[in-house]
Amino acid sequence: MDYRVLLYYNYTKIEDPETFAQEHRAFCRDLGIKGRILVALEGINGTLSGTKAATERYMEMMLADERFKDTYFKIDESAGHAFKKLFVRPRTELVALHLAEDIDPHQLTGNYLEPQAFREALLDDETIVIDARNDYEYDLGHFRGAIRPAIRNFRELPEWIRENKEQFMDKKIVTYCTGGIRCEKFSGWLLREGFEDVAQLHGGIAAYGKDEATRGELWDGKMYVFDERISVEINQVDKQIVGKEWFDGTPCERYINCSNPECNRQILVSEENEQKYLGACSIHCAKHANNRYVKKHHLTTEEWVAQLASIEN
Ligand SMILES: [Zn+2]
Repeated sequence: MDYRVLLYYNYTKIEDPETFAQEHRAFCRDLGIKGRILVALEGINGTLSGTKAATERYMEMMLADERFKDTYFKIDESAGHAFKKLFVRPRTELVALHLAEDIDPHQLTGNYLEPQAFREALLDDETIVIDARNDYEYDLGHFRGAIRPAIRNFRELPEWIRENKEQFMDKKIVTYCTGGIRCEKFSGWLLREGFEDVAQLHGGIAAYGKDEATRGELWDGKMYVFDERISVEINQVDKQIVGKEWFDGTPCERYINCSNPECNRQILVSEENEQKYLGACSIHCAKHANNRYVKKHHLTTEEWVAQLASIEN
């Protein structure tokens, strides 16, 4: 465990994101850091990996900068890099919510709940807990009893809330996401929509899993992460598997992308069914001319056709 994975964000003013991104990229490259860092006028959002020494140096430099001095880093130990490459990119917004009128979390955001207060909210019948992530993230793991918005992408969330408003309007609402950044804006948006009692899990699921008192209790399954690890453990108390295998519904925590490059859907699939269905989510995708599984495993046309026939039986 000589490496670390860092996850952080900071809504803070960055005057010239283009130039900042260039300089920051050079700084990261010198440290041998890999990962994905987004820079915007409204702040910075990063997830990266490096040696212990490199990540230590990275955090020191960030915290010494007036703009980032209050950044909260979520730290995971790791056996190696969690990313293949380094991307430092300027963006118009840190998380794509595409609101007609943007939210500045410094002006409007939900109350912050620390992990222990959040656990109490989970156990409170009068509180509605909304998962602010995508459906495939929820399906691998989520807080017990949390609402699952049926969305494939974060920017669909406001519309989904409007359509389901009656369910939540008079309740206390608590939101959570992976590291907290999505909830900063989403909880502010809920307040602007007229919801009165809105709170968010400070530091997200990542912070909750590391909290000494909660130790991830009331989290079921694993947490989806946007790096090579794909998922990490959260609950150190009474872990249960909630993921269901795409084809047969048995307990499963193994994510793959559908082997049809035009589909790419994230599905939970056992090794056995990956083989059987040629890494695809459907017979349609298994037949696709550019099926990646077929290429990767050097299947001959005869073998491919035979496997498709066995699926159809
Ligand atoms: Zn597919």
